[in-house]
Amino acid sequence: MIIDFHTHIFPPEMIADRARLMPEEDWFAKLYRDPAARMASAKELIEEMDRSGVDRAVVLGFPFRSLDLCVKSNSYLAEAAGRWPGRIAGFANAPPLSPGAAAEIERCLGLGLKGIGELVPDSQGFDLADTGAVRPLAKLAEQHGVPMLIHLSEPVGHGYKGKSGTTPEKGYALARTFPGLKLVFAHWGGGLPFYELMPEVRSDLAGAYYDSAASPFLYDAKVFKVAVSILGPEKILFGSDFPLLSPLRCRREIEAAGLSAAETGAIMGGNAARILEGKSGNPA
Ligand SMILES: [Zn+2]
Repeated sequence: MIIDFHTHIFPPEMIADRARLMPEEDWFAKLYRDPAARMASAKELIEEMDRSGVDRAVVLGFPFRSLDLCVKSNSYLAEAAGRWPGRIAGFANAPPLSPGAAAEIERCLGLGLKGIGELVPDSQGFDLADTGAVRPLAKLAEQHGVPMLIHLSEPVGHGYKGKSGTTPEKGYALARTFPGLKLVFAHWGGGLPFYELMPEVRSDLAGAYYDSAASPFLYDAKVFKVAVSILGPEKILFGSDFPLLSPLRCRREIEAAGLSAAETGAIMGGNAARILEGKSGNPA
């Protein structure tokens, strides 16, 4: 079972009229002002999954600042999950500082969505290390045993449109505040895995997973081998960041990384299946 843990789709009406969303949504405008920046519908995602040999995808809505836009996107994800059962695991999104955020997440989990995310603090106007801001959603995730997926960025290196000010120490602070929370730090957690070589950090991050979304744009392909040696294969999730990258390209990179069949299997879908089934709070 191959599971891509990091893909994005939009309702077709948002794709058709993207310029209308930009005045109120800075992060969205930054990423999608260029008409060549691709946005995909659920149908396009399914077609790409078929081409790439992906059985199931975790599907994330855009981290809008507006609750109303998140609601529209969440409803579209829930609809898509119903239309392609077993292929789409939708995650719910809501701007944590919005008074209606927790109620919206509860609505979505009731509709069968499987997690929360991708939260992007720099887009949604909150600080990941601000416990009060995150608590309502973190508590819901804990209660329902679902993961929360968060966009983290590297504090060093080249600039790009999605590079944010939310760097590894913010993710670490979150994990320390909510030890029972199942966390998925996107984009290799901005480099957080390296610090798991510190025993106390390793213990604080017992509930953390890392996805490889956009990895070919960020890291040398050696990152898979290095990450497995630090973390073990059980904390790593294959993610593409489709439509930014094709899942097939990312798959091929993992398959050529020199890992064992068991390691590759865990990363490509075994770990994801365990998380989505709600089994075991901690990867290790
Ligand atoms: Zn991201």
